[in-house]
Amino acid sequence: MAELFYDADADLSIIQGRKVAVLGYGSQGHAHALSLRDSGVDVRVGLHEGSKSKAKAEEEGLRVVTPAEAAAEADVIMILVPDPIQAKVYEESVKDNLKDGDALFFGHGLNIRFGFIKPPAGVDVCMVAPKGPGHLVRRQFEEGRGVPCIAAVEQDATGNAFALALSYAKGIGGTRAGVIKTTFTEETETDLFGEQAVLCGGASALVKAGFETLVEAGYQPEIAYFECLHELKLIVDLMYEGGLEKMRWSISETAEWGDYVTGPRIITDQTKAEMKKVLGEIQDGTFANNWMKEYESGLPKYNEYKKQDESHLLETTGKELRKLMSWVDTEA
Ligand code: NDP
Ligand code: MG
Ligand code: MG
Repeated sequence: MAELFYDADADLSIIQGRKVAVLGYGSQGHAHALSLRDSGVDVRVGLHEGSKSKAKAEEEGLRVVTPAEAAAEADVIMILVPDPIQAKVYEESVKDNLKDGDALFFGHGLNIRFGFIKPPAGVDVCMVAPKGPGHLVRRQFEEGRGVPCIAAVEQDATGNAFALALSYAKGIGGTRAGVIKTTFTEETETDLFGEQAVLCGGASALVKAGFETLVEAGYQPEIAYFECLHELKLIVDLMYEGGLEKMRWSISETAEWGDYVTGPRIITDQTKAEMKKVLGEIQDGTFANNWMKEYESGLPKYNEYKKQDESHLLETTGKELRKLMSWVDTEA
């Protein structure tokens, strides 16, 4: 079973005694910087020339400097810029500003797990990753609650790296909810697998295939949209609240019977065999290396896939139908 840590297990004074640099002020960066500051931690934000988020950070009373200045001043450096550019930011602004005893922090393990960033032996390498988007992390903190976090240590140069990670997690409200101990390897591989096989890739492909099946059989796209995409939210909300059991308690017996007999015909042994292959390509670095190559060559395939789906009948139908639903927040 997972090891869990709460407020009483974490000593906030550890992080209060350090100088923290938060690089990036996006979804996660703003939540970490503001909540650490409100927890009495000495925080500066590191942003590149021309950053869109600089004004927002300054309006909140945070001091914004360049990533290199932030890294030079601080002894705890949290890297919260987008994953594909972290290695570049590290090389250009962080590497030469690391001293023995400093700590390098991440919100996701990709760059460490696959060796795109190789920190020197004298620094602690830690992860504190909230299991929720940054805006929820910040809102929960302000309301006196917290979003559960996972925490990991890849390199314990000082012997106190995990206590430091827990202290950081306390500073953003994580230990109010609970912090689960993990490793960079477990976090990175399960995160990539989850988003590819189930949450993003798997769910989109399932919705699209169901929608196409109905439309190709002559049913109206609007009706197919409701059945295959719109209603998914009701089902997922029930699962989120009470697992498969609550979802099955709420749906009709007919739907429940269909769930049992048809689900395994859609997600078959062959699907699971493919999932294992996908996991293998994550574990051996194939996925991460291909993604970095795609990113560095200017995202040609990424943009092509994006464009293809934008013109899919599922999407054009949904755009019109959502106008009928005043309660649906249609802003991106
Ligand atoms: P965002 O895309 O929301 O924000 C990135 C930030 O980095 C922006 O403020 C951006 O500035 C800034 N930035 C871009 N380039 C540079 C640079 N060269 N130097 C300094 N700052 C730069 O990122 P996320 O918060 O989504 O992700 C950050 C990390 O957190 C990632 O490792 C991600 O995997 C992890 N994570 C994210 C979660 C989420 O909910 N989004 C959940 C858990 C982990 P500008 O405003 O100018 O673009
Ligand atoms: Mg992810
Ligand atoms: Mg129905």
